[in-house]
Amino acid sequence: MKFEQPRLPYAPDALLPVISPETIAYHYGKHEKAYIDTLNTLIEGTEFADKTLEEIILHSEGKLFNNASQAWNHIFYFFQFSPVGQKEPGGRLRDRIDIEFGGFEEFKRMFEEAGATLFGSGWVWLSSDGDGKLFITQGPNAGNPITSGLKPLLTFDVWEHAYYIDYKNVRAEYLRKLWDIVDWNIIEERYNS
Ligand code: MN
Repeated sequence: MKFEQPRLPYAPDALLPVISPETIAYHYGKHEKAYIDTLNTLIEGTEFADKTLEEIILHSEGKLFNNASQAWNHIFYFFQFSPVGQKEPGGRLRDRIDIEFGGFEEFKRMFEEAGATLFGSGWVWLSSDGDGKLFITQGPNAGNPITSGLKPLLTFDVWEHAYYIDYKNVRAEYLRKLWDIVDWNIIEERYNS
């Protein structure tokens, strides 16, 4: 199966002032596209050609894993944002956040801290296990919690290409601003699915 890059569900300037159209042009238009193009080249004519993206991530390593997982991660990342999204979690996800992290503000602080202290390139994740328990984890490079049996709910990309155009070297400010565009309705749907 050849993978297609999904179109963004918002305009390139819709996430201003948090993410600029220039960052969208490079991060979505060049980086995400390159991971998907390379993935398609790598699987052509191989045993992976008919597999789902998740199957490839779970059963590959090296260059193929890196490109498959980066394709998955970027699609997941860009689809969690909206300029008019729900600004806070509700429902049973909110209840779990309050219980496990001591409130939404404390959760955000811990999540930002995990993103800020991840050395080098990678991703910070909120995931859940089969019992609905929540986990904040750091994943280096192309890491993805599905390789640990967890269900990803939310991720912030902390590769420099994600923020350097808009925030230069100030990763912490980028992480703090991202909350303004996270659509918690989408995160709740992921949690409840
Ligand atoms: Mn990225």
